[in-house]
Amino acid sequence: MRSYRIAAIAGDGIGKEVIPAGLEVLRALQARAGDFELEVVDFPWGSDFYRETGRMMPEDGLDQLRGFDAIYFGAVGDPHLPDSLTLWGLRLNICQGFDQYANIRPTRVLPGLESPLRGAGPGSIDWVIVRENSEGEYAGHGGRAHRGHEIEVATETSIFTRVGVERIMRTAFTIAASRPRKLLTVVTKSNAQRHGMVFWDEVAAKVAAEFPQVTWEKELVDAMAARMVRKPDSIDTVVATNLHADILSDLAGALAGSLGVAPTANLDPSRQAPSMFEPIHGSAFDITGKGIANPVATFWTACMMLEHLGEKPAAERLMRGIEAATAKGVTTPDLGGKANTAEVTAAVVDAIRSSN
Ligand code: ATP
Ligand code: MG
Repeated sequence: MRSYRIAAIAGDGIGKEVIPAGLEVLRALQARAGDFELEVVDFPWGSDFYRETGRMMPEDGLDQLRGFDAIYFGAVGDPHLPDSLTLWGLRLNICQGFDQYANIRPTRVLPGLESPLRGAGPGSIDWVIVRENSEGEYAGHGGRAHRGHEIEVATETSIFTRVGVERIMRTAFTIAASRPRKLLTVVTKSNAQRHGMVFWDEVAAKVAAEFPQVTWEKELVDAMAARMVRKPDSIDTVVATNLHADILSDLAGALAGSLGVAPTANLDPSRQAPSMFEPIHGSAFDITGKGIANPVATFWTACMMLEHLGEKPAAERLMRGIEAATAKGVTTPDLGGKANTAEVTAAVVDAIRSSN
């Protein structure tokens, strides 16, 4: 029997509702498949942990996680604590500590769901956005001088390294090559940002030579935003910098119907450290405790986790289960439905149990 160790970090807010739902669905899958097992260890880290200990995670937290095959993460963020503390103290600490440099964001209109885009039914949006997750505009490089004076200056410098850009390009081309259309759009702003972005274009051309089977093109980020709305069918796999992909993937999530369905994976493709799988949404305290959080993003990211572990049939079975629930209209209020988290979970579990 194949066996995997999963670290579950539910975190804050609705993270504590959607991760248990995700684990329930994973248990059903494991029982249905019968040929793999998941050993899940819960880590109670996050804002409540901070209130008790003064830290979002223990000092040796990364060492505690290192031996796991994957991290299943809920959400972090607390209305009474600054993001700089909560986000950096837990989520970004893990992303950076394990060099999870590739952030993968699939977007698709699931059966039964509606895109705000006129005429965009299921199938018309089927994208994977690959976000550089370790450097670029979010490298934290810059500073302030002459504070409060008229001559005050603030700089925010983007850092692009050859190692950093080559590895994300290679990841993006590999993903594009694995998909039926074998089409990659490299997004930059190389007409206006003449150093880092021109460098991106150059590295893309170099890495492209290793992937003759992939058709690739360049697009400016502003034009890309418009194209996502006007010609969604013309897009398949997209690679962009930390900032650009951050913005484009929020647009993508909205076009797919709701933040509550959008999953993501923070990968270390070299597999030296565990990768982390999470819904894109945050802790959403406005709905915490009401039992109505949409668990679909957390289920979908479990598909990504299973695929990463090599359990593709189980990942596909779970995706079919999710689609069975959405197609039947068993959805939470953010999607216009009437079901709660438990009912959506039960519908997916039922679909898994009765699947062939
Ligand atoms: P954070 O500060 O951690 O980012 P947030 O409170 O800003 O959290 P987001 O997750 O960014 O919340 O989401 C914004 C809004 O979208 C939430 O306030 C919530 O109403 C809605 N939302 C997000 N995720 C879900 C979900 N899984 N199910 C239902 N509604 C959701
Ligand atoms: Mg938020």
